Amino acid sequence: MTDLTIEATGAKGSLSLTDILAEAERRLLVEQACLTPAEVLALQALSDERLGDLADLAHRVRVHYCGDAVDVESIISAKTGGCPEDCAFCSQSSRLPTEVAPTGYLSHKELLRAAEETQQRGATEFCIVMALRGPDQRTMDYVAGAVELLRRETELNVACSLGLLTRQQAVELASFGVRRYNHNLESCRSFFPKICTTHTWEERRETCKLVKEVGMQLCTGGIIGMGETPEQRVEFGFELAELDPHEVPVNFLNPRPGTPLGDRPILDGAEAIRTIALFRLIMPSTIMRYAGGREMTLGELQAMGLKAGINALITGNYLTTLGQTVDQDFAMLRDLKMPVRAVSDAL
Ligand code: SF4
Repeated sequence: MTDLTIEATGAKGSLSLTDILAEAERRLLVEQACLTPAEVLALQALSDERLGDLADLAHRVRVHYCGDAVDVESIISAKTGGCPEDCAFCSQSSRLPTEVAPTGYLSHKELLRAAEETQQRGATEFCIVMALRGPDQRTMDYVAGAVELLRRETELNVACSLGLLTRQQAVELASFGVRRYNHNLESCRSFFPKICTTHTWEERRETCKLVKEVGMQLCTGGIIGMGETPEQRVEFGFELAELDPHEVPVNFLNPRPGTPLGDRPILDGAEAIRTIALFRLIMPSTIMRYAGGREMTLGELQAMGLKAGINALITGNYLTTLGQTVDQDFAMLRDLKMPVRAVSDAL
């Protein structure tokens, strides 16, 4: 146990709460060193009155490692609903009585049209998102054709989110020219069995590792506010960091009707900000992207999240839920005087 933990737990210790923040700042900004789980737990124990100071440190760490620009992306699903898995938060599960009706695959022509519109708006990234346990041969053939078409007809970098992968599939996707692959851990290892029984956290992590091993960029994050404890959020942050992802999407639970989490209370906004700040301190140089649920969870505090470690956002609608409008998001960034790095759309 470190001095930082001793102080935060109220036992004997030599550091004041101010010193905890000062020590974290010294470690991250002067030594360029990582914090330990015990140190982050100590920071998590800071009172709500100190949340502004914690957020301020996280923002300075983000600017130090990543600069002040914000990466903006929008998403649309290429295949919605009908997934055989039972993730308790997900309205796209065919096992749950949700309001989402399954769709077929978008045609390659529809994908290309959307990609071209995306490129005209200044996009650099285009992500094919499909609700699947993992791709079968038909899906791999569909993706191969789509990626070939998009790479031939546009200048966009192509990303995919297709569920669990075998090594062979990961190798094939990389050989198609897929630059980045999204596969969320969703939550920490100790909580995951409470939200999914049809596959394991370890299977998700294995796909994340495969993505990197075959040379694609890894995008992996999850959902905060599903019933995990604050300590489990710290556990989750370190599990993500261990994978050294290129990008971490941070969702907050938007309880969907018909799912087992449909009646869960919305996460307290201050807790959401605290989690963002701690994730930034755990992963100083990773792209950390606002994803689903931020409007409902944070409301007026959304701007504070961008001053607490977030440096990217998904704008517009999410896969099955509505978000703040693109104009509102750009107005928020203008108010914050944060430049937009790239407008990258995911489809
Ligand atoms: S695997 Fe993905 S699409 Fe399927 S139920 Fe789980 S989160 Fe939803």
